[in-house]
Amino acid sequence: MSKQTIRQFFNQFPDDDVCLQHLFNVRYGDNHECPKCGKAGKWPRLKGHKAFSCQWCGHHIHPMAGTIYEGSTTPLQLWFYAMFLFTKSRNGVSAKELERQLGVTYKTAWRIGHKIREHMARVDGEEPLGGCGEVVQVDETYVGGYKRGAQGGKGKAIVMGMLENGGDVITAVIPRRDRKNMIGQIEKNILDGSEIHTDTAQPYKVLRDHEEYTHLTVDHSISEYVGDNGQTTNAIEGFFSQLKRTIQGTHVWVSPKHLAKYAKEAEFIYNRRQNQGAILHDLLTCFPKG
Ligand SMILES: [Zn+2]
Repeated sequence: MSKQTIRQFFNQFPDDDVCLQHLFNVRYGDNHECPKCGKAGKWPRLKGHKAFSCQWCGHHIHPMAGTIYEGSTTPLQLWFYAMFLFTKSRNGVSAKELERQLGVTYKTAWRIGHKIREHMARVDGEEPLGGCGEVVQVDETYVGGYKRGAQGGKGKAIVMGMLENGGDVITAVIPRRDRKNMIGQIEKNILDGSEIHTDTAQPYKVLRDHEEYTHLTVDHSISEYVGDNGQTTNAIEGFFSQLKRTIQGTHVWVSPKHLAKYAKEAEFIYNRRQNQGAILHDLLTCFPKG
C-alpha cells in the first residue's frame, strides 16, 4: 500500500458527515448489536447530532466518544486531514504548520498534534521485540536543544531505542543513563533468547553474564562500527538521526515532558516503513471497538 495523494484523501473524505460515518463503521460497523435492546440492525444518522440511533429502540451511539476526538469542536474532516499531513512529511508536522494548514488557532493546532501523537503510540502498541535467534540493536542518545546553552548531556533527556533487525523499534525516555534504567528497559521490551548488540557503554556490560540474552558489542572508541560477528548498532543510530532531524528541524524546541510523544511518533512511522499506506489507514481505523 503506498501513500495516499491529497486528491484520493478528499475523494474518500469529502465532508464531516462522511468522516463521522467512517468512524462509526470502523468502531461499530453495520448491523451492530444494540447495547440497550440487544437487537442487531441499522444505525441511521441522527439529524443534527454527531450520533447514530438504533432502528429498534432509538438508543444513541456517539462514535467520537472514547477517541481522541471526544469533546473537540474542531470538525472531524480537519482531524482526518491533520493525520493525512502527518503521513506526508518525513520530518513531522509542527503546530505552526497545522495552524496554517487547518486554519485553526495555534493552541488548537498544538493540542491536535499531541492528540495524534498519543493516538500513534496507542495504535503502535508495545509488543516485545526479538526472541530466539533474533537480533535486537540497543542504543541510547541525548535529545535536547530545548535548554539554551546546555552543555553535553546537561538539561537534555535520554531516549533509549531497541530495534529488531528487519523488524520494529521501541523507544523509551529514561531519567538516567545507568544500569537500572537501561537494563530495566531491555528486560521489559526484549524477549528472552535474543541476541543483543550494543556499544561498549558501561551499563550494558552486565549483559555479558545475563542468563537470557547473548550480548555482542561494537567498540566505537576504536571506530569499529561492525564487529567480527556482524554485530552493529547502525540501524538504531540511523533511527536516532531521523528523530533528531524531526525535533531540531521541525519542532526546534521540545520539552522533556513531551519528548516521549515525539519519539513514539517516530516509532509509529518507522514501524510502517515497508507499508507507507498503512500509516494513514491505521490512524483512521484503529480505534477502540464499540
Ligand atoms: Zn436498540
